[in-house]
Amino acid sequence: MADFDYDLFTIGGGSGGVRAARMAASYGARVAVAEEKALGGTCVNVGCVPKKLMVYASHYAHDFSDSAAYGWTVEGARFDWGRLIANKDREIARLNTIYGKILADAGVAVFAGRATIVDPHTVEVNGERHTARYILVAVGGRPIIPGGPGHEHALISDQIFALPEMPERIAIVGGGYIATEFAGIFHGLGARVVQIYRGPLFLRGFDDDVRALVASDMRTSGIQLRFDTTVDAITRHPGHLSAKLSDGASIEVDAVLCAIGRRPKTKGLGLEAAGVELREDGAVPVDDYGKTNVDSIYAVGDVTDRIQLTPVALSEGMAVAATLFDGRPTKPNHENVPSAVFSQPEIATVGLTETEARERGEILVFRSSFRPLRHTLTGRDAHAMVKLVVDAESDRVLGVHVVGEHASEILQGFAVAVKMGATKRQLDQTIGIHPTLAEELVTLRKPV
Ligand code: FAD
Ligand code: NDP
Repeated sequence: MADFDYDLFTIGGGSGGVRAARMAASYGARVAVAEEKALGGTCVNVGCVPKKLMVYASHYAHDFSDSAAYGWTVEGARFDWGRLIANKDREIARLNTIYGKILADAGVAVFAGRATIVDPHTVEVNGERHTARYILVAVGGRPIIPGGPGHEHALISDQIFALPEMPERIAIVGGGYIATEFAGIFHGLGARVVQIYRGPLFLRGFDDDVRALVASDMRTSGIQLRFDTTVDAITRHPGHLSAKLSDGASIEVDAVLCAIGRRPKTKGLGLEAAGVELREDGAVPVDDYGKTNVDSIYAVGDVTDRIQLTPVALSEGMAVAATLFDGRPTKPNHENVPSAVFSQPEIATVGLTETEARERGEILVFRSSFRPLRHTLTGRDAHAMVKLVVDAESDRVLGVHVVGEHASEILQGFAVAVKMGATKRQLDQTIGIHPTLAEELVTLRKPV
């Protein structure tokens, strides 16, 4: 390996890149990382972490109002957007430093700057060329910038974390993870929220019962959901924006957030010149081990456009490091990947939806929907739901779906059970923890 400056040159210091670099270094490889913005990537800087902090912030509104039923009087509660953003920024700066230290401690060289690929073994950063036995492309993605008249006035998710002021009225376009999470965040923080989705029901790909319940509870909570609708044009007026909708309506707002998916960030990276084939949307196709069609170039994370989640990028990064530098060819496993939407109510899911499972064979469905104990006192018209999709013949649990408080925390353990091939009978034999929402998953008796 001595002919090259490095054994591994990782382009991108986000979830996948940092993990691969660290692990490769731990196996004795000489590793470098180039990062053009901030270490930690999307998740740390403009994704999972700041988003979750904002979700926490927004929950206080509900907690304050619910607390009255429990005997509390909370007076003078006011929200300060500037303080939230400043505190969030401080935490992220701390995480950036930690990421830098983790890499330094692992002996990884870090280059601050945009890297491009010169040839299958050469990377250029800040005018300097570095050779590497392997190059890892971990450049992630970026929000799709919407087209259409006046859409230059719309914000993308990257910008929402640094707004100088909180919009009091916001239109959120999209029906996926980001749009639905931010609808809950801004509603909780006191904004008037309209979420606009082009199809008949948002959160496509999630279980239909989950989608319907979340839509219904969001509407009850006061969020305006406009489905089968698109934004045809946005016009800026002094002090506000107006969005012209496909149903003929025009709405006045302070901001429009477009969250309509993300695209791989491969433009101008030099991949084509190095002989790497790209999909039309810029994604880098890889084999089961993360290798592109060029033997020395690997790719992990969002840039491969498989499952765009941080833990998936981490597992892909670890697999590439193990394959290349630990003598253990490792395929990351994309089966039964659990995920959560930190919407309000929260969603968590693993495995197949009812519709997907039905297409594969005979199934049994178990479901319970109820008002959580906490809201028996508050009177809040909020619901929780648990749902199991079970293979009728083998009794194996094919899908677990939870809507409600702490759904993500509940689901992580059930994801282990599904991964281990748990059967419905084994869930039935498990004693519940009472009184919890989670216990419903082990007490579902009759199929619907
Ligand atoms: P990234 O983390 O995007 O890292 C890529 C890095 O490469 C970036 O830092 C970029 O600056 C750098 N880079 C790009 N090009 C170059 C170049 N040419 N030279 C040098 N550096 C370069 N996932 C979850 O699991 N849970 C969540 O709750 C969650 N919430 C999210 C919320 C939002 C608003 C968004 C946008 C995403 C969220 N995600 C969440 C998804 C998650 O952030 C991504 O799946 C994850 O960050 C992907 O990791 P990655 O390493 O592939 O790319
Ligand atoms: P998603 O893919 O989740 O959702 C995109 C949404 O935009 C869909 O509702 C889609 O509709 C809609 N859409 C696509 N194109 C258009 C268009 N041209 N006009 C109008 N609507 C359009 O993307 P996000 O941007 O929300 O998030 C990107 C990814 O980041 C997610 O897929 C997820 O992997 C990750 N993420 C994960 C989170 C988590 O783990 N909690 C949180 C946030 C992001 P349709 O369904 O009809 O195609």
